[in-house]
Amino acid sequence: MLPVKHSTFQEMNKYILSLILLTVVALRSTAQSYWQQEVNYTISVKLDDKNHVLHGQESFEYINNSPETLDFLYLHLWPNAYRDGKTALGKQQYAGGEQELTFGADSIKGSIDSLNFTVNGVPTYFEYDAENPDIAKLVLSTPLIPGGKITVSTPFKVKIPSGEISRLGHIGQSYQITQWYPKPAVYDKNGWNQMPYLNQGEFYSEYGSFDVSITLPKNYVVGATGDLQTQSEIDFLNKKANQSPEDIKAALLKKQGPRGKTDFPDSDPEWKTIRYTQKNVHDFAWFADKRYIVLKGEVELPQTKRKVTSWAMFVPHNARYWQKAIEYINDGTYYYSKWNGDYPYNNVTAVDGTISAGGGMEYPNVTVIGNAGSAMELEIVIVHEVGHNWFYGILGSNERVHGWMDEGMNTLNELRYVYTKYPENTNLSDMVLEGRFHFDHLDHYDMADFSYRAISGLGEDQPIETHSADFTSINYGAVMYSKTGLVFNYLKQYLGDETFDRCMHLYFEKWKFKHPQPEDLRAVLEQESGKDLSWLFGDLIQTTNHVDYKLKKVKTDANGTTVTVKNSGQVNGPIEVGAYQKGKLVETVWVEPSEGKSSVVLKSQADEVRVNPSGRIPEVFRDNNNWHQKGLFGKVEPLKLEGIIGDNEQGKSNVFWMPMIAANQYDKFMLGVAVHNLGIPFNRVQYLVVPMYSFGGKRVSGIADISYSFLPKKSLKLSKFGVAVRSFKETDNEAFKGNDGYYFTASPFWFAKLGNRKEASPISQTVLVQTMYRLDVFGRTKIEQAGGFAKYDFNYNKPDHEVNIGLRSDFISNLKNSDQMGRSSIEATYRFRYIRNKKSRWMELRGYAGGNWLFDLSGASNAANYSLSLSGANGSQDLFIEDYYFGRTETQGFLSQQRLENMGGFKSTSDYGTNSQWVATTNFYAQLPFVPGIFGVFADAGIFPASTLTNEINTAFDVGLGIRLGKVVGLYFPLYISKDMNDAYSSANYTTRIRFTLRMSFTNRGINFANLLN
Ligand SMILES: [Zn+2]
Repeated sequence: MLPVKHSTFQEMNKYILSLILLTVVALRSTAQSYWQQEVNYTISVKLDDKNHVLHGQESFEYINNSPETLDFLYLHLWPNAYRDGKTALGKQQYAGGEQELTFGADSIKGSIDSLNFTVNGVPTYFEYDAENPDIAKLVLSTPLIPGGKITVSTPFKVKIPSGEISRLGHIGQSYQITQWYPKPAVYDKNGWNQMPYLNQGEFYSEYGSFDVSITLPKNYVVGATGDLQTQSEIDFLNKKANQSPEDIKAALLKKQGPRGKTDFPDSDPEWKTIRYTQKNVHDFAWFADKRYIVLKGEVELPQTKRKVTSWAMFVPHNARYWQKAIEYINDGTYYYSKWNGDYPYNNVTAVDGTISAGGGMEYPNVTVIGNAGSAMELEIVIVHEVGHNWFYGILGSNERVHGWMDEGMNTLNELRYVYTKYPENTNLSDMVLEGRFHFDHLDHYDMADFSYRAISGLGEDQPIETHSADFTSINYGAVMYSKTGLVFNYLKQYLGDETFDRCMHLYFEKWKFKHPQPEDLRAVLEQESGKDLSWLFGDLIQTTNHVDYKLKKVKTDANGTTVTVKNSGQVNGPIEVGAYQKGKLVETVWVEPSEGKSSVVLKSQADEVRVNPSGRIPEVFRDNNNWHQKGLFGKVEPLKLEGIIGDNEQGKSNVFWMPMIAANQYDKFMLGVAVHNLGIPFNRVQYLVVPMYSFGGKRVSGIADISYSFLPKKSLKLSKFGVAVRSFKETDNEAFKGNDGYYFTASPFWFAKLGNRKEASPISQTVLVQTMYRLDVFGRTKIEQAGGFAKYDFNYNKPDHEVNIGLRSDFISNLKNSDQMGRSSIEATYRFRYIRNKKSRWMELRGYAGGNWLFDLSGASNAANYSLSLSGANGSQDLFIEDYYFGRTETQGFLSQQRLENMGGFKSTSDYGTNSQWVATTNFYAQLPFVPGIFGVFADAGIFPASTLTNEINTAFDVGLGIRLGKVVGLYFPLYISKDMNDAYSSANYTTRIRFTLRMSFTNRGINFANLLN
């Protein structure tokens, strides 16, 4: 459920003008009299590690600090999220392809029950939310007045789900007890914030205190929120910590297999009860494992010099990376304290757990970390999760609605930690094939930078301020985490570390143990820095407007270097300009935010100037940032030639090349080179040129594509102009040897993605308008054609349903003999997943209707080529060279049996039904439930005019078996063909009826290596 939003206020203003003043006054007074509720818990819980069940007794004191009287409390009963596939969690996971809750066994699911609430000792009625079993309403028999206090008590029993589902769970006898007890939802100035548990969309909880007693077999090691109060357990942990050097040595000597799920020692028959207390936290989590090795350390805080105890708990299997975990926990605690404010608690713990909700998960004072692939990865995850003690724990924003205030601000500190501690790190390079292919010198910051720029370069980014549940899973990471980190790092660079740190310390002091909103963060930053930050809080956070600054003009004289920069983007942010001498950065200066052109004077006499010299301004495209004194073209970036593929570096024109081998029936073998700039991040101008020597044609065949991308503010996500050139041999007729018997096409095109970038939508729409000049040369015969087509595609994608509707109009004209053809068609496909578990099988129903509204043939040579085909286009009917054919002009043999998946779509090779007027068909295909899933059945039915002279209509049918390899290759074997269609074959040979299809060009032009094959 969504909390009430500010838009309610805005709506009111629109219609009730007279209330504007009052509303503003009201808003002001709420801002000044901040309040929050308080919840103080006492919980005792017993772990039954045979049945994986918790038996608990909870009592919490609820203090109403709000100005409202409350008639009920919303309670979160999170374990019920694991009940089945119908919960919000179940649905979110199903949509993401995780099916445990929908199809898993009951034994892996979880729930909470045995609830029996009393309020101040009086039994009290509660009801479950109609939609969400993990939300309940506790109806108070006596309303709770402002300033009033009640005590709510209940027993509870939790069936612990499998740890493979989300955050609460167990793997064998390794327990992750998180979001596990009945808990009031947050009540704030926006009202109740009750929300079902989700994997994507985290926390919002009330502050208060916890007093938790855990009873479990004696040999469990527990990591938990709070300060341990039980002396015998303190002794137990200290003893464990003392013996850790031997434990680690033994673990490293032992050859470790895959992480065990069953290698648990027997539980001690004796039990222990251990007690933890903590103030000023909003949650309590605990983790228990009998195998843990325990490390203990200490870190001195930078401001107060207070000492905090650090703990690391891990299984022997992971000792290799975890042996230095205390260093990571201490350094994380130190740097976050230094940059934001001292850690206010006594203990900071990281435990090793099998977590399926990401690399790690934060809880107050304690974080759980998933398996890491290297020591560096482990360090970053630990630091990130420890860092959440600030951005989540201490500064408790509403993560479901403003996730960036936690994850994004935390990412900023994580990026800063890595580049401060490891300025020379090559984390991204190490990830991309260990630095091969010229992805070199790419660091941890680049990882965030590239992920944001890659997704925004495709026009698929969303605003930072997007509800957590409305993010696509890619943008949840690339935007909410990465882009927020980047834009606040941009702010930090602009303000300078000193001012920025002062602002963050103030924010921390003012809002610690509270619920800051975006406007609260903005107010502190603007007041303390004295800057108007609307470019950040307006454009960069609220919208997908892109930053782009351009270097306009450079003038050097005795006084220095005068640089004119132009804001050619959609955000009026500050611009950094750097002056270089002999390749070294000697001076930088910031240009204050403005629209249009600005000039700035640098003292040095530069021989090179760069906008965004550090690369730390999150510009999507950076190809217009440079000026060099050398050379005629000052703004042309120096060329860098590299093999295969790599990253597009700032200040260089990276050109990649790779040898190419290709083949078809006429060119035979082709050997050549692909030259392109399709590295990452993407460039505004993209090109791919592939000239190849054709051994069959003794000529140069190949392709060339070039395009230019725009990222408009509105209506279109992406707009791309370009031209595609193709030339290949198209016959192996002996008469047309050498450089003869070939085609050449040049096709300018415009491609656009329609829609806005606001919310994740199941709908996507594209438009492609393409024109073409085509020359076919066969000796002295030269056929010249010109034409084009416009195509609109609508797609609707849900986990079990897909709809595609395509509208298309074509026009083509023979320039010599003035043959002309015009055609329009509609195509609709509905795909339905009829087996929904892991096996996953689909069936599809397609309808097609197309007609030629212009068919003017004087030469008649194009009659078949310009006709509609029942079976999909053969090579000669592929007028606009839209896909790859092994033998484009073959009329006999297996290669002639290739068709495109278009027009009538019959799984047939017959020319029957080919006509100049119209075709209407329906096609059915279903994947069979057998393993492997490549087999299917098909059926096609169609009608078409019998002749141009009468109104008579002919029909055709076929039924058969198909084999599909992914979405690319299809092979179809007819079992029944309607009589006329069958009779139309010149041969009785069955093999002539087998049709095959290839679908290579399923992506946009420009980044489609598959096009190389044509
Ligand atoms: Zn995080």
